[in-house]
Amino acid sequence: MRSVIPDYLVEALRDVEPDGSGEQAGYIPELAAADPERLGAVFATVQGEVYGAGDIDTEFTIQSISKPFTYALALTDRGFDPVLAKVGVEPSGEAFNQISLEGDTGRPLNPMINAGAITAHSLAGPEGLSPAERVERVIHGLSAFAGRRLRTDEAVCVSEMEHAHRNLAIAHMLRSHDVLTEDPRTVVEGYTRQCSVLVTARDLAMMAATLANRGVNPLSGEQVVPGPVVRQVLSVMFTCGMYDAAGDWATQVGIPAKSGVAGGLIGALPGQIGIATFSPRLDPHGNSVRGVSLFERFSSDMGMHLMGVPAAARAVVRANHVLGSGPDALRVLQLQGGIGFAGAERVVREAVNSAPPEVRVAMDLTMVYSIDDVARRMLLEVARRLTLDGHDVYLVDPESILPDPDPGDGGRVTVVDIVEQAMPSPHTVETSPLKRNVL
Ligand code: GLN
Repeated sequence: MRSVIPDYLVEALRDVEPDGSGEQAGYIPELAAADPERLGAVFATVQGEVYGAGDIDTEFTIQSISKPFTYALALTDRGFDPVLAKVGVEPSGEAFNQISLEGDTGRPLNPMINAGAITAHSLAGPEGLSPAERVERVIHGLSAFAGRRLRTDEAVCVSEMEHAHRNLAIAHMLRSHDVLTEDPRTVVEGYTRQCSVLVTARDLAMMAATLANRGVNPLSGEQVVPGPVVRQVLSVMFTCGMYDAAGDWATQVGIPAKSGVAGGLIGALPGQIGIATFSPRLDPHGNSVRGVSLFERFSSDMGMHLMGVPAAARAVVRANHVLGSGPDALRVLQLQGGIGFAGAERVVREAVNSAPPEVRVAMDLTMVYSIDDVARRMLLEVARRLTLDGHDVYLVDPESILPDPDPGDGGRVTVVDIVEQAMPSPHTVETSPLKRNVL
């Protein structure tokens, strides 16, 4: 059977193909000369599966799509505080090349506009690197996100540098506020080289998938940047990635995203996929016209809006029933799915509202596939309080989905592999070799 996803992508491209509106970026002559008809789209899953249609292996310059990744490198290399001291996280509502800084501090408003991105470039790598070493750190880092060694397009780099008056003006302003501490021209040269890194839509989808996968490249398995950095980067992409169209984007598409003036556009759907599109004609905000249409379509066709609320929390308690009878009866709370705060709250409520009359109580985690840390602590606290109320508490957890099951402070939990081991039959409980640990 042919996969349905490439066919869907082909159909989506066919729908947007006739739209010839928009213009290529005119302020970088080399970009104005690019083929405007190119069109491609790629989905890369967090498992590393890649689906594409159209021009997915054509190289073009990454431009502003480098910004979230360089910001990630700066946060990783310098730590949050030094970077936040120099670049804010507030949406500017202005164009990407606006010459604007925060009034009192001179900080750029966010790392997605040029002022913030030029500053973030200056913060990549450890302190004291030469400009060339810093560029190498950035290209090396972008390559790790993509999973292959990337190179720059010298012609585009030179072409942009010849017309970089605005970025130079911004850099001089940053220097006057001591946000930049080096020669402004040198930093702009490094930033421009960063923007001239050549990528394909396939590369960009993999880079986005690395963000969607908590910083781990799905193919190479490399942890490129730590999880907390990814959270910061995705948050900033969500609020600032589309410049002065960020609000429209957040409401209509709802995927953390970043565009570039060469026509690339990426989106990262946490835990699911990285998406990239390529189509060079831009709208007045500098975002790819057909790329934006494709993302609008993907979001609504595939339910990808991040604020589209899944109906998961209620279903965490799959069953609440009693096995056996009399003093041997066992109350079983059978849980399922992925349990976060809301799911754990549902379990707490179940335990509080219908205080079980049975002495034995089991929480059956056999059908649970993940428990986050707050849910883990809440379930253990339920176990602790049940113990204090006189219950014998069991966790049915054959795959140790709940690590370190110690409820602490007077709590006691017996971990078993199957629910029958929580029953008082001497054959199953006392002699069973499967009974594992008692805390
Ligand atoms: N290199 C471009 C610039 O600094 C990047 C802008 C963009 O892609 N939006 O103007």
